Amino acid sequence: KHKLCMIPGPIEFHEDVLAAMSTPATSHVDPDFLPVFGEAIEMTREVVRTDKGQPFLVAGSGTLGWDMMSNVLEEGDSTLMVNTGYFGDRFAESLETYGANVHHVKASIGSRPSTKDIEAALVEHKGYKMVAITHVDTSTGVLNDIQALAQVIRQRSPESLIVVDGVCAVGSEELAFDDWGIDIVITASQKGLGVPPGLSVVVASQRALDVFKKRSSRIRNYYGNWNKWLPVMEAYEARSALYFATPPVQLLYALNVSLKQILANGPTGLSERIDAHRKASGQVKAAVQGLGLKLVPTSLEGAANGMTAVYTPPSIKTPDLIEAMAKKGVQIAGGLPIKAEPYFRIGHMGISVVEPERKHIQHVIESLHSSLNELNYRS
Ligand code: PMP
Repeated sequence: KHKLCMIPGPIEFHEDVLAAMSTPATSHVDPDFLPVFGEAIEMTREVVRTDKGQPFLVAGSGTLGWDMMSNVLEEGDSTLMVNTGYFGDRFAESLETYGANVHHVKASIGSRPSTKDIEAALVEHKGYKMVAITHVDTSTGVLNDIQALAQVIRQRSPESLIVVDGVCAVGSEELAFDDWGIDIVITASQKGLGVPPGLSVVVASQRALDVFKKRSSRIRNYYGNWNKWLPVMEAYEARSALYFATPPVQLLYALNVSLKQILANGPTGLSERIDAHRKASGQVKAAVQGLGLKLVPTSLEGAANGMTAVYTPPSIKTPDLIEAMAKKGVQIAGGLPIKAEPYFRIGHMGISVVEPERKHIQHVIESLHSSLNELNYRS
């Protein structure tokens, strides 16, 4: 039986998106498929708010986006990681695999480095090829202020590429790729974009593509090599086909449908959707705080709008809470292996924050309330 999937990705899918996944077998060079892929590329630009950024839509998960950074990083290049949790550690691990030296600016669990911390790191060590920031670290639910950080990075280290891991943020948090001067955004299909898992989505600025084109060493990556994918993306956008590796046809049909929903009414629709995430998040956070529970993020402005991380009360075991919720037909997530007291996570992204599925939010709150009662929780 289907449980309402209220984890921080994969999220609930719209029935039209699921129907698109059932598109009968279609050749990836079928003329009918070309505009499906082409439009998805164009709409990806819109969703991150860029005019000229280059999207890469490739079968894979969010992790492939990290690996694709091997297109711009060369052996020995240094990267500054604005680290707010588990996914910052993992991102660094991927970059190190390709020979990058990663320095971390880390705040204590639940908080985020300040612009002053980043400024100090950029003054202390010059020449970072890349500054990588996890927009929302899904392990802590901490939201970074990309706009403010990007401004400081541009001032102090204009040559650094600004890379945003937006896997848990694109479609649910405010992001302005061009206006904020972002160079690369990495995301995936299964969260704010509202599509089943299996698509890696990366957008690169012209500046990032220049760095990629001017590199002197060979790219130590085969499947993720932009030299292979760039002509493919350009071809589909021009409504022609080019093969490097088989595109996930049904996922691209699904992405096309989901992006059309997100972008219905253009930029207004997008900003309304971001706003709906903010409202749903406010409702969930107020409810858990009202129950006397403590959020993992130490400030509300530094807390994600697409998910909520909450400490489990000491008298309750997290797996018991997850099970009690599951019995009520609601799937929530436990914590990830970070050095924190036991905690759980609720996702509230995508269709669950807009009508008519907005009732999911009330449902998860009520289930949490009654599950805690069953487990004899007293605040
Ligand atoms: N970055 C962040 C912030 C994530 O939340 C995740 C997945 N939860 C990833 C990267 C990795 O994405 P995937 O699991 O799709 O490979």
